[in-house]
Amino acid sequence: MASETRTTAERCHPALAAPERLRLRVVVEGLVQGVGFRPFIHRLAQRWQLAGTVLNFTGGVEIEVEGRVEDVTAFVTALRDEAPPLAVLEEIRTAPLPPTEEKSFVILPSRESAGSPILITPDIALCADCRRELRDPADRRYRYPFLNCTNCGPRYTITHRVPYDRPHTAMAVFALCDDCAREYHDLRDRRYHAQPVACPRCGPRLEYVRPGAAPRLREAALEAALALLRAGGVLAIKGLGGFHLACDATNAAAVQRLRQRKGREQKPFAVMVRDLARAERLAMVDAGAAQLLQAPQAPIVLVPKRFPEGLAPEVAPDSSDYGLLLPYTPLHELLLGADGLCALVMTSGNRSEEPLCVDNAEAQQRLADIADAFLQHDRDILVGCDDSVARWSPGGPILLRRARGYVPFPVRLARPVPPVLAVGGHLKNTVCFTNGPTAILSQHIGDLDNAASLEHFERIIAHLQAVLQVTPQVLACDLHPDYRSTRWAREAAERRGLPLVAVQHHHAHLVSCLADNRETGPVIGLACDGTGYGTDGTVWGCEVLDVTPQGFTRLGHLLPVPLPGGDAAVREPWRMAAVYLQATFGPDFRSALPPTMAATLDWQQWPALAELVARGLNAPLASSAGRLFDAVAALLGLGGKAAFEGQQAMALEALAGAHDEGYPYLVARHEAGLVLDPRPLLGALVRDGQRGVARPQLAARFHEGFAQMLAEAARQAAAAAGRDTVALSGGTFQNRRLLERLTSLLEQSGLRVLRHRAVPPNDGGLALGQAMVAAGWGREA
Ligand code: ZN
Ligand code: ZN
Ligand code: FE
Repeated sequence: MASETRTTAERCHPALAAPERLRLRVVVEGLVQGVGFRPFIHRLAQRWQLAGTVLNFTGGVEIEVEGRVEDVTAFVTALRDEAPPLAVLEEIRTAPLPPTEEKSFVILPSRESAGSPILITPDIALCADCRRELRDPADRRYRYPFLNCTNCGPRYTITHRVPYDRPHTAMAVFALCDDCAREYHDLRDRRYHAQPVACPRCGPRLEYVRPGAAPRLREAALEAALALLRAGGVLAIKGLGGFHLACDATNAAAVQRLRQRKGREQKPFAVMVRDLARAERLAMVDAGAAQLLQAPQAPIVLVPKRFPEGLAPEVAPDSSDYGLLLPYTPLHELLLGADGLCALVMTSGNRSEEPLCVDNAEAQQRLADIADAFLQHDRDILVGCDDSVARWSPGGPILLRRARGYVPFPVRLARPVPPVLAVGGHLKNTVCFTNGPTAILSQHIGDLDNAASLEHFERIIAHLQAVLQVTPQVLACDLHPDYRSTRWAREAAERRGLPLVAVQHHHAHLVSCLADNRETGPVIGLACDGTGYGTDGTVWGCEVLDVTPQGFTRLGHLLPVPLPGGDAAVREPWRMAAVYLQATFGPDFRSALPPTMAATLDWQQWPALAELVARGLNAPLASSAGRLFDAVAALLGLGGKAAFEGQQAMALEALAGAHDEGYPYLVARHEAGLVLDPRPLLGALVRDGQRGVARPQLAARFHEGFAQMLAEAARQAAAAAGRDTVALSGGTFQNRRLLERLTSLLEQSGLRVLRHRAVPPNDGGLALGQAMVAAGWGREA
């Protein structure tokens, strides 16, 4: 279009034929390093015959272009519209410069500078071009397990520090061969400046190590690995962010062996399947889940199983979902390709509850009595990064575990904040650094239950700090005085002489949701989860707050009940059922129960517990949505003992049948605020049980009643505080049914709903909220 206009103008007005020259500086900030951005700029400059330069600096890319005015304008438009797939352009600034009459366009060496936020790409799944080369016998990288290009491959986990250049990565030790060097320096090549570029001649090497046998290399390694898997063995495989433990997912004995050796009794194993068609045969994969499976982040996606089960039942016992993922490295592709297996259990390479192994020697030591053999390589993993876990919902994906593929992708803030390090909670721990106008949440670190996980926590903080080149001036932690993360932060603050901000758990959840939506409130927040330390010393977990990053007012909460035996009530959900029933029907609640429900309680233990509750001994009060879900799940016979947090709630959601009328509830207005009273709900549930109503209906009616109760409380709170927006956060909102239903109820009432987008609703997102509170984010300067 632009060129046509010009032609006409030239014909009509010859005087305009000599166009004015313009030199423009264009600074692009965002995720523009290691994504093929400079070659892209070079190609654009050639398209319009512009002269100038491009260079990486720590905060982005700086360009100078010179040419005819309209060509320079077209260049800037195309820069925005045609950017490479992995690039994220967060800010583009332009400023005119005096023309220099320069004739060529050149790429200059990277420049390091202080003060700008540094972004680096996550590790990205094998791209279509590389997959084609991997399968092409004529290609020099045919069947090479470490091929990659500018659009795919390892990044974050091989980077020591920025700027992202080969000497700052684990690839520094591999000298490029002539062919690779040519590609690396050729601007037209897909591998131009791809730092992890490698080939069979110069790159990392595959090795198969089986104790007591000679190591095998390359194709022989692959052959031996496949033979072991086919024979039902357990193989440790080094991947992008650490080791996996793998076995044939269709072989029940093999899966059982892996469970026993790993010490993991029930928790479902993730399964890597050959391709989307295979995933669709095993599970109900709708269009959204299919898209998520094939995304460059390649997360584990939770999808409902098809029955009869297509894999060994030991893969995911007691679960109605499979956690599936597609091959995301060339090595996976070779193991699961046409002459490989169809489905492999791929669980993190660790003993249960420990961080995953990243180092060859460490893996061979720590996994010695779990794995029969090791398929490894000599490209170092600088920091562990687990597979991410997500589920699809019509309102967008829900991230359950945010790690490989997503980290260290930043959350962009509305304005710059001082550098903060927030250390998260206790379960599903992550940490968060702020850096100028960005917040960078670490990969999933896990539960901080032992010394090994605390070391992992410290390693990740050190690595992220080095990669980001940021020095925190403020520390933030949870209000809970005894969390390991809190204690670590207290010591670190003292050691470094920094201020420490302790943030109430649910305040952090809701501010995390605000930041995830680039908003600052005030909003009504519904924070629903298992447990968080309240400002009154009791356990909170179903809170209606009027909230901004600066503070909050507690407008309402779920009716508190005692947790008989404290933490034991989490592991034995029948205890929660008992206290809720006692609150609903009085001490003789047993007589109200139908036999099926009565059978879910431990009547031997109950009298002693009831005594403790009556005397207020080891029975802290809690207003926890998670515990209410546990209680209902237990009553419906979904397991008396929880093997992992949230297991009952997940089972209850999976059990729920078609949408149904909700149970009654009460939102009572007290002096101190709203009390969400679930007793009418439990009463109706028990009466339905007596009438023999089917369990899927009970679960559906409970979900609906609970959603309505939350919606009603939010409506009342919004009206009282004069708010029009409701933010939803906390682990309970991993429940898709509840999240979707509550969202539509609130929207029907004319309220705007904020839900998590890039960050998990569970405690994995907590550190972001803590960081924002500590940074005083949203406060006008
Ligand atoms: Zn590629
Ligand atoms: Zn090479
Ligand atoms: Fe929480």
